[in-house]
Amino acid sequence: MRKPKIVVLGAGYGGLMTVTRLQKQLSVNDADITLINKNDYHYETTWLHEASAGTLHHDRVRYSISDVINRSKVDFLQATVEDIKTDAKKVITDQGEVEYDYLVFALGGESETFGIQGLKEYAFTISNVNSARQIREHIEYQFATYKNEEEKKDERLSIVVGGAGFTGIEFLGELGNRIPELCHEYDIDRQKVRLVCVEASPMILPGFDPELVKYARAKLEQRGVEFHLGTPIKEANETGVLIAKGEDEVEEIKAGTIVWAAGVRGSSIIEKAGIENMRARVKVEKDLRAPGHNNIFVVGDSSLMINEEINRPYPPTAQIAMQQGETCASNIVALLHGKEELEEFTPDLKGTVCSLGEDDAIGLVFGKKLTGSQASFMKKMVDNRALYMVGGPSLVFKKGKFKFF
Ligand code: FAD
Ligand code: NAD
Repeated sequence: MRKPKIVVLGAGYGGLMTVTRLQKQLSVNDADITLINKNDYHYETTWLHEASAGTLHHDRVRYSISDVINRSKVDFLQATVEDIKTDAKKVITDQGEVEYDYLVFALGGESETFGIQGLKEYAFTISNVNSARQIREHIEYQFATYKNEEEKKDERLSIVVGGAGFTGIEFLGELGNRIPELCHEYDIDRQKVRLVCVEASPMILPGFDPELVKYARAKLEQRGVEFHLGTPIKEANETGVLIAKGEDEVEEIKAGTIVWAAGVRGSSIIEKAGIENMRARVKVEKDLRAPGHNNIFVVGDSSLMINEEINRPYPPTAQIAMQQGETCASNIVALLHGKEELEEFTPDLKGTVCSLGEDDAIGLVFGKKLTGSQASFMKKMVDNRALYMVGGPSLVFKKGKFKFF
């Protein structure tokens, strides 16, 4: 008898959780499972701010997919997904077509530029291993060039970060530690380097606990971060950014490095495939299926779920992507066993921890506020837990963070 084909797109948090749970729950005879991912490695997206600043080598944030999948049960195809033909139940990749009976879409999100002029051309984004490596190398290049040029351009040393959400703040926290090291390495006066954060809202980390936000802002300011709040970036160009001040005023901030960290949307493949979406995110049913597609599950940053308590979407996080992966796997197993009732997904939010560099952080965990080394310890535990959930203790020993104090 022909075995059902399960195809999982993306080996990020959502995809790997789905696959590792499927390989535990299904035998070789139950189904053919194929995992498709652009690279032969998984990267911890949640650590990319460290690789981007250069405080953690990019090889530390990635591990080989073959370390965590059971090759006797899962076929891995290294390929870039280009489209999905839902009527024909086919995934189109740069390596050919792949047929499916059940599809799990877990290709993550993409940077949202809101159509702001110049961002695509002149700003970097913290999106994957290669973009992180490019940011780190670009900053170093600016320092090296500054040191070597006769007519010094101080603005070369300015770094503008667009957005003071969690990504922007975590990146600035790393830069706060990295810039003094770079200044030392390149014999550059620290006062010459500007770290500028431009945020459209009147506060950093909008919506997060005000006391913790105050702590984070003070700690980053102590390390030389300048905040421009209530000032959206209007344009990026070769020399820096234009920010809106009030109704009609615009100010220019010159910078040699612009990093755009002001939000994410879903995968453009969702739009291309014609699956109903809002900014490339699929408002999934409670069982994680795409409306109108009873064989397509969407997990992670390309899915959208409303938190009914506040009538707003849940933020796209690794925490939710991993939990969705578990439910998605159970639901596929249920379908294979002929069950009609599927599990409804409800996020079990344990809290949020935002790092402010190697040994500082803020966090709200199980309702408790944490700051400083306690919060930083918790952040590393969260990072290690994510490894444990996918690859067990061996992956934690291989890739985990153990420098606690
Ligand atoms: P991802 O983990 O992004 O994985 C998507 C995978 O799909 C990748 O392997 C990618 O290579 C692959 N892929 C993409 N397109 C294609 C294609 N066309 N073909 C083939 N493969 C493709 N969340 C938290 O909960 N806690 C945190 O502390 C936290 N910190 C963060 C820090 C930073 C710097 C950033 C940027 C985000 C952070 N997040 C955090 C958010 C979190 O990383 C995302 O919500 C999470 O990665 C989403 O998981 P995912 O499985 O949807 O996608
Ligand atoms: P975000 O949407 O959370 O924050 C983006 C920020 O950019 C907002 O504060 C917004 O006001 C600002 N912004 C938007 N347009 C702007 C403009 N034109 N100029 C200046 N500022 C502008 O995005 P993010 O920080 O990339 O986070 C994405 C997701 O990843 C979120 O769900 C977040 O919770 C999650 N994340 C979590 C952690 C953590 O838990 N430690 C870390 C990073 C990211």
